[in-house]
Order: sequence, then structure tokens, then C-alpha cells
Amino acid sequence: MSVSSAQYLNWIDGQWVPAGEGGTRPDVNPANVDEVLGHFPAASRADAARAVEAAARAFPGWARTPMPARGEILRRAADLFEARAAQVAEALTTEEGKTLAEAKGETLRGVSILRYYAGECMQPTGEVYPSAAAGTFLYAERVPLGPVALITPWNFPVAIPVWKIAPALAYGNTVVFKPAELTPLTAWHLVEVLEKAGLPAGVLNLVVGSGSKAGQEMVENAHIKAISFTGSNEVGARIAATATARGAKVQLEMGGKNPTVVLADADLDKAADIALAGAMLSTGQKCTATSRVIVQREVLDGLRERLVARAQAFRVGDGRDPQSQMGPLVSASAEQTVLDYITIGQNEGARLLTGGHKLTGDPYDRGYFVAPTVFDGVTPDMRIAQEEIFGPVVGLIEARDFDEAVRLANHTRYGLSASVVTRDLNLALRFVREIEAGIVHINSQTAGAEPQAPFGGFKGSSSGSREQGKAARDFFTQIKTIYMDPL
Ligand code: NDP
Repeated sequence: MSVSSAQYLNWIDGQWVPAGEGGTRPDVNPANVDEVLGHFPAASRADAARAVEAAARAFPGWARTPMPARGEILRRAADLFEARAAQVAEALTTEEGKTLAEAKGETLRGVSILRYYAGECMQPTGEVYPSAAAGTFLYAERVPLGPVALITPWNFPVAIPVWKIAPALAYGNTVVFKPAELTPLTAWHLVEVLEKAGLPAGVLNLVVGSGSKAGQEMVENAHIKAISFTGSNEVGARIAATATARGAKVQLEMGGKNPTVVLADADLDKAADIALAGAMLSTGQKCTATSRVIVQREVLDGLRERLVARAQAFRVGDGRDPQSQMGPLVSASAEQTVLDYITIGQNEGARLLTGGHKLTGDPYDRGYFVAPTVFDGVTPDMRIAQEEIFGPVVGLIEARDFDEAVRLANHTRYGLSASVVTRDLNLALRFVREIEAGIVHINSQTAGAEPQAPFGGFKGSSSGSREQGKAARDFFTQIKTIYMDPL
């Protein structure tokens, strides 16, 4: 057991400061709740307001800073973040629970994203148009929005903050960043690295505090011109209502109920590997995780048998143990939600094939471990087929043929990602055309996104323009069109 007494602070206006009211909150390891990683500020609305004011003061200077100079800071931050990647990955695993291999991958992805946006700072920022008037120089320029609020969840506490902060800063905005209260240590590393890379005071501010206080202030504060949020649909809808009512720009990335469709011609070993990885890696706590496996009737028996065997062999444990393939759920309430959904599934008549319970005994007793769970006989309108569970639970749904499989896949309010397993190119192409999802995988799992490509969903999964890659520019800039004539 280790209990750290380290006290971490908020970063506001270029200073490391405690919460104004002095409150703190422990950061706890979900694999072993006796392990405390440190204590973080419980920021109030007033703390968040101070951070917003600092971002507003810093905005004119940062917007005037040449874009290549902004890029140079991001490049230095990438190098510094890479140099401490092992430490950040360890922090990520210890506060969020995912395996060290996953945490290292996520941290290095953060490094790549910083480098990508450093590179974007050397790219054109506008376009020249032919004018109907002789001698008129007509061009459109991308300009920053102002101070922006970035509100992030706990499940990718490095990657999601980086893919919001890096483009926000690259395109000249100043930032108030509120990470999820469950994962402040990785946020602290990221902000410290950006500070050391040379960001001027107030350009980036870190506010660790609850959504209902610090987050709410950021959403309501009139200085904040745009809010990029990733999290649940419920909170996203509330943020959008408040922010759009006062004219702020909003980008929401929310839930998923992502299907993998297995067609009759699929290689069933590969299909089972794909479905299991999609469902169980990161303990199913990915917005792009697979939670429905829709299987063509002819191959249901074969896939079921393979999927269950793999789920039973999947090694669950502390993410720091190199043997572990899956860590704990992030918190007691996340664990309870998952266990509740397992009960709901059973009550609805789905057949529990494996898992379905909390893991007990050493090394599980002090953490939030649930066994990899597979349901069979799931029907399309069951709650476990419609609602996001956000845990290591997957349901098998039978489909008569391709058309029914696609219909079932689309039968949800969400539309983040989807995958199909088939050797038939014609059916793969039809799937791409007919599926209602922002991200489509052919013969790979529903999770997995490269940072240079747009990321986001259809229907209830997302709102506003896409994140990542060049697409991020649409959210973090506005367009000024200039008609310039000689006198
Ligand atoms: P929440 O929506 O509960 O929280 C997300 C963030 O919003 C947290 O920082 C939270 O703060 C903050 N927040 C909560 N209430 C408010 C408020 N009133 N005003 C402003 N901010 C607020 O989601 P979780 O963190 O629990 O993440 C899990 C959910 O996120 C899942 O449903 C998942 O699908 C979704 N998600 C979607 C992704 C995507 O890209 N589509 C990626 C990752 C997750 P606090 O610290 O208090 O929790």
C-alpha cells in the first residue's frame, strides 16, 4: 500500500495555486483503493472564473504570436512529454486503471498529436479567391475564437485533452482546461510539460474541480467563446443548452453503442479476436468500444463458442502487472453501473454465457474488477442493446442476413463507430454506404482512431464539427473574409 501526501495545484495565470477555498480531493488507484497518488484541488466556481479571466487577458497576445512560434512551443512540449512518457504512463495506469501497455500507447499518441499540431502551425491559414472586381484582393483567413473551455472525461485522460489543447493553442486560442476529477495526475503532467515548453502566463489554465462547480462556471462565463466537451450525453446536452443560449460555439463528443457485424463468410477466429478486443480492451471504457456483436445466423454457434473461450481466457488484473490484459473499472460508481446493467440484461431475458460478476480474492478485493461478460440472445430493444454500459460487457444479437444485420446495427440513438468482418468486398462496400456511423472499420475492431484523421460520430454520438487532424481547425477557428482594394 502506498499513500502519497503530495499536494498538487491548479495552474492559473502562470502560477501554481491551491483552490481558493482550500479544498482538496484524493486521487485513488481503482485497482487498489488503499493507494493514494496525491491530493488535488477541489476548485470552486470562483477559481474557474479566475482562470477564465486569465485566459481572456492572455488572448490578444497569444493570438498575435506568430503561428510558427506557437508551433515551436508545441514541438518542445512533445519532446518533454516523450521524455517523461514512462512516468506519465505509470500515472495513467495508476489513476485510471488501464494496462501499462495501453497507457504507454496513449501517452505516445499524445506526443504524436502535439507534433502533428506543431506541424499544422506551418500550414496555410486561409485561401485566396478570384474576385469579380478588377484589382480586388479577396481572401479568407482563419482566426482564433478567443478563450475556450475544454472539458474532458477520465477514460482517455492523456489523448483527449491533448487532441483538444494542441489544436486550440495552435490556432491561437487561449484555454481553460478542466479534466475529469478522477484523473487529474495525467492532466497535471500534460500542463506542466506545456508550461516548461514556454507557454506565456494565462494561455493555458488548469482547473481541477467538479463539473457541477468549476465546469458549470466555464460553460456559463461570457468570456468563454467556445466549449469542446467529451463525456456523457446527459452532461453534453446540458452544456449545449446553456452555451448555445448565450451564443457560444459547442463541440460535443459523447457516447456510443458500437456494433461489430460478423457476416457468414467471416474467418471466425479473426472475428472473435476482433470482437473481444473491441469489447474488453480498456475494460470496455471506450466511447468506441464494441458493445453489440451482430452475427449472421449461419455462424452464430461458431462465433459464440470462440468468443466465450476468449473471454474466459482474458487475464484481468492490476494494469501494472504485465500479465494483465484488462484492468479495473475506474470507480465504485462505474462498477455499480456495469453490475446493474448485467442484472438488467438477465431480467430482460438475455442469456449470460460468461462473467457477469465482480471478481473477488487477491488481487481483486481492493479494486473495481468485473469479469469479462458475454450475453447471448440479446434482442434489439433490450436496454443492454440500446444503452451505453461502458464496461467489459458485450451482447450477441442474431441476424438473418446482411440487410437485417445493418438494420440492427443502425437501430440505436448512437452512431459513433461500427465494424464489419467479411471477405466479401461488395458487402463491405455496402456496409460502408449503409451504416450510420462516423467511423467505420472493415475487418478490425470498432475502437482505434489515428490522430491525423477526423474523429466523431453521427446521430446522438456527436454534435458540432469533427475533432483531430485538420478537421479540428473548423471548430477552433472562425473565418474572416477580406476584400482589399487599392485607392
Ligand atoms: P461525464 O459527462 O460525467 O463527465 C465528463 C466531463 O464533464 C468531466 O470533466 C465532468 O466533471 C464534466 N462535467 C460534469 N458535469 C458538468 C457540468 N454540469 N458542466 C460542465 N462540466 C461538467 O462523463 P464521464 O467523465 O463519466 O465519461 C464517461 C462518458 O463519456 C461515457 O458516457 C462515454 O461514452 C463518454 N465518452 C465519449 C467519448 C467520445 O469521444 N465520444 C470519449 C470518452 C468518453 P467531473 O470531474 O465532475 O466528472
